[in-house]
Amino acid sequence: MATVVVTGGAGFLGSHLCDALIARDDEVVCIDNLITGSVSNIEHLFTERSFRFVEHDVSEYIWVPGEVDAVLHFASPASPIDYLEMPIQTLKVGSLGTHNALGLAKSKDATFFIASTSEVYGDPHVHPQVETYWGNVNPIGPRGVYDEAKRFSEAITMAYHRFHDLDTRIVRIFNTYGPRMRPNDGRVVSNFIIQALEGRPLTIYGDGAQTRSFCFVDDEIRGLISLLDSNETNPVNIGNPNEFAISELAEIVVDVVGSQSGIEYLDLPVDDPTQRQPDITRARDILGWEPEVDLRTGVTRTVEYFAGLLGR
Ligand code: UDP
Repeated sequence: MATVVVTGGAGFLGSHLCDALIARDDEVVCIDNLITGSVSNIEHLFTERSFRFVEHDVSEYIWVPGEVDAVLHFASPASPIDYLEMPIQTLKVGSLGTHNALGLAKSKDATFFIASTSEVYGDPHVHPQVETYWGNVNPIGPRGVYDEAKRFSEAITMAYHRFHDLDTRIVRIFNTYGPRMRPNDGRVVSNFIIQALEGRPLTIYGDGAQTRSFCFVDDEIRGLISLLDSNETNPVNIGNPNEFAISELAEIVVDVVGSQSGIEYLDLPVDDPTQRQPDITRARDILGWEPEVDLRTGVTRTVEYFAGLLGR
């Protein structure tokens, strides 16, 4: 049994992570300022004696009393519409927040785990993306606030590892979807499902030829836990390598929902990556991990969740 601090623990991934840690009898301290996270994601854990929730902005100094074995830094706006609306908070939580979380880990001699992202590869020229690729990021574009904050968070994590000998993990998370995404999250899977359920047109940005590789949340969490339990200090991609054009995703969602929705084409956001697919050789070799849930199955489960939320 370990004591684990999860920043951003009331968010989409953070709350699923809290569930997985509680399920294996870890003590969990969940810290979240609830700007994009929600109490509804974690309230089912409030009856667990081994779960504590602290409402706090981790860009400010963090302190947790007692022993801590691991600090998992998952706090950040994570949807393009969020980090466009909250650019400074996004930069702060990726930089100051990571520094504070590292400081907590160092003072407790705990393992530090940073939630990094496929966005560190930017609009990639190497496809699929291997961890050794340095990426193609526009530092001053509107997405740069997220991409560069996460790149900084990886750099400072490696500095603490090398200079302070801190035990660290870096995961690069690729597009993940599933229950507890916010209905107004703005990301493509939640947008398409809500639009299909409400019989509205699905909003495709650009021509829909851009690709993403979607990982169901249960697979993602299993990968994160196995990375935490490993001793791998280099970055590891955790994502589903099955790549789809956004127009293909639209067809799958319409089909699963059984909706009559058409398509509405809107402008492509600035610096929207044209392609994205993780190379997961490292995760397979080191962790023995790979995803199991195919897109149609995962979309079906996510549709059930949103249908329940919308009372349909
Ligand atoms: N997208 C879309 N319609 C939407 C929302 C997103 O066509 O309603 C596109 C977006 O332009 C991008 C892809 O879907 O090419 C994935 O967007 P998302 O915001 O989910 O994640 P990203 O991978 O861009 O961070």
